[in-house]
Formats: sequence, structure tokens, C-alpha cells
Amino acid sequence: MTLPLIGITGRVEQAVRPPNPLLHAVAQSYVRAVELGQGAPLIIPPHLEQDHLRAIFERLDGLLLSGGGDIEPAFFGEPSSGLLWQVDGQRDRTELALARWALAEKLPLLAICRGIQVLNVAAGGTLIQDIPTQMPGALAHNAVLRPLEQIAHTVEIVAGSRLAGLVGDGKVEVNSAHHQAVKSVGPGLVISARAPDGIIEGLEASNHPFCVGVQWHPEVLVADRPEMRRLFEGLVEAARNR
Ligand code: MN
Repeated sequence: MTLPLIGITGRVEQAVRPPNPLLHAVAQSYVRAVELGQGAPLIIPPHLEQDHLRAIFERLDGLLLSGGGDIEPAFFGEPSSGLLWQVDGQRDRTELALARWALAEKLPLLAICRGIQVLNVAAGGTLIQDIPTQMPGALAHNAVLRPLEQIAHTVEIVAGSRLAGLVGDGKVEVNSAHHQAVKSVGPGLVISARAPDGIIEGLEASNHPFCVGVQWHPEVLVADRPEMRRLFEGLVEAARNR
């Protein structure tokens, strides 16, 4: 049996070794988690013309929108707060196109961290550009100084959601490395998880075979947490059944 092909969106990174070329990369944890879920991972270059991107998309059985920097606020119709981090408008265009195609053409889709924000903007939603300044009193969601694997807060999973079917309902402990979050939810998407401070931590599309977004990083938790592995197994199962 051929393993389902899961595209993982890449980012641009500069090599540390001279002559320091620009690389198209993804964190190894995403690749490993897809492999663990029995999918065949494929890194999608972040800067491609539409025809080239489309040629890749048409061969995919599933899509993983990975984490990374902030989305250019013009894509959701807002001026920049001036508090943005690692904006790459070309990557935004690539991922927004992939997310819109996946929504419209029912390609199974798992969206992680920045990915849930891309999914929401692709559906017509907006983002909180900086949680500490726009939501004073919110939890410390941006854990840049602690290991990514470290638990940062709980989320309350909405009973009856697809997410609850994968990771269980009620309270689940998660990690957290984001200073942005979903503000208004895009049409067609529903909230599947929230942090205790009200920050949206999960979105999904009900009218879709598998469209799941999480604000935390399950890909670094798969070794010890079978319920986090279920997210990747669920994506690959949906991709196989397509
Ligand atoms: Mn969080």
C-alpha cells in the first residue's frame, strides 16, 4: 500500500555555514510526526509561482500548515501594529493559496500554530496581532525562553468537536509559543478549543472531511502523548480515505 503524501509548508532560513545560502526548511519535528502518523512527508517550498504550487497541490493527499512568523496584516485588512515578527509576505501568499484550495477542494488539512492563523485568514477571519498589548491580563502564551515541549497552559476542548474525537474532551495540557491568535473566526470555521483566558486555541471546519487547526505544537509532544499523535494519524487516515 502506498503511503499518503502529506505536504508540509516550509519557510526560508539562512544556513549558518558559509557561504550562508538561503534554505527552504521545516523543523524536523513536523516531518517525524507525519512519518509517525504513517504519512509520507514532503516539504513544500515557501516561494513558488502559482502554477508550480498548483502542480504540487494536485499531487497531495493531505496538507500540514506549519508554524513560523507572523502573517502580513494586509492579508486580513488591518494596518500593521508594528509588533510583528518574521513577516514573509511571499510565504503568506503561498500558504493562503494552499489553505484556500484545501478548504474548497476538501483536501485533509492539519494547521499548527501559525498554520491555524493562516487557515483562519484564508477563510476570511482576522488575528490578534500581539496578545500582550491587545489582551492585557492574558496568559503567557509566548514561550520563547522555555523549551517548546514544556506545558504552558490548559485548553478546554469543545465536546462533540472533531478535535475532541482525536485528543479527548475537557481540559488538555498544551505547550504554547505564539504572540498572535485568532480574533474573528472566518466563515465556515468553528471554535474547538480555548485557553482559560479565552484565547482561541482550536478551529475546525465541519463541512470538510478533515480540517483541524490547533494553536499549540503537538508535533513536539508525540513521543510521550498518544493523543497528540492522534492528530497526525487522523490527518493521514483522512488522506488515505480521500
Ligand atoms: Mn497558547
